[in-house]
Amino acid sequence: MDNGFAERLRVVTERIEAACARAGRDRAGVQLVAVSKTHGPDRIREAAECGLTVFGESKVQEAQVKIPQCPGNLSWHFVGHLQRNKTAVAAQLFDCIHSVDSARLLETVDRASAEAGKVMPVLLEVNVSGERSKYGMPPEEVPGVLALANGLDHVEVRGLMTMPPFTEDPAEAQPWFRQLREWRDRWRGETGFALDELSMGMTHDLEVAVEEGATWVRVGTALFGERERA
Ligand SMILES: *Cc1c(COP(=O)(O)O)cnc(C)c1O
Repeated sequence: MDNGFAERLRVVTERIEAACARAGRDRAGVQLVAVSKTHGPDRIREAAECGLTVFGESKVQEAQVKIPQCPGNLSWHFVGHLQRNKTAVAAQLFDCIHSVDSARLLETVDRASAEAGKVMPVLLEVNVSGERSKYGMPPEEVPGVLALANGLDHVEVRGLMTMPPFTEDPAEAQPWFRQLREWRDRWRGETGFALDELSMGMTHDLEVAVEEGATWVRVGTALFGERERA
C-alpha cells in the first residue's frame, strides 16, 4: 500500500483551507464527503485510516454490496440519482440523502425511513441551470416541497444540493453556486427552514463552491484517482 491517499487528502485539504481563507470562512464550516463510488472496501479502509469518516455513493446496488465490507463506524451519504424502487434499501444503508429531486421522492423516502425506524436527513437537489442540466428539481418547486416536508415525520430537510453543468473553467460554475445560496437565503426567510447545509463543489470546482458557501464538498477523483467507469 503506497501512501498516495494521504498525499492526495493533504492536497484536497489545502485546497479547501485556501478557499476558506480567501472567503474569510471558518474551515470547520466545510466538510468533506469522500465520493467512493466504483472504489472497493480496501480503498475506503485506507481513506478511513487517514481520518475520513463520511463517504458518498451514487448507486444503491453498489453500496449494498460494499458497505457491509467496510468499517462499521463510517457515515454513508447517498449523492446519486435515487430511483423510487431503491428507497427501501437506501433508507437502511444511508445516513443522509443529498439528492431528493421531487415531492414524490421525498414522500417515498419518508415512508422508507419510517420502515427503517429512522429520521433521514435529506437535501433537496435543485437544478440551478434550467434546461442545461437534467438533475434536480426546478427552483420554483422548492417552496412547495418544503411545505410538504413540514408534514413528514421521517425526513428532515437540512439544506440544498446542486450540480451545475460541467465547464472546463470552474469559474463558470461559480454563478450557479451563488444562485443556489441566494435562493437558500430567500427560502430560509420565506419558509422557516434553516437550510444550513449547501452540498456543492466536486473535484474540479470545489474552490468556487466553498467561496460561495458550500458546507459539504463531494470529492471523488482528487482523493481516489480516476474512476474506470462513471
Ligand atoms: C461522482 C460524483 C461526485 C464526485 O465527483 P469528482 O469529480 O470525482 O470529485 C460528486 N457528486 C456527485 C453527485 C457525483 O456523482
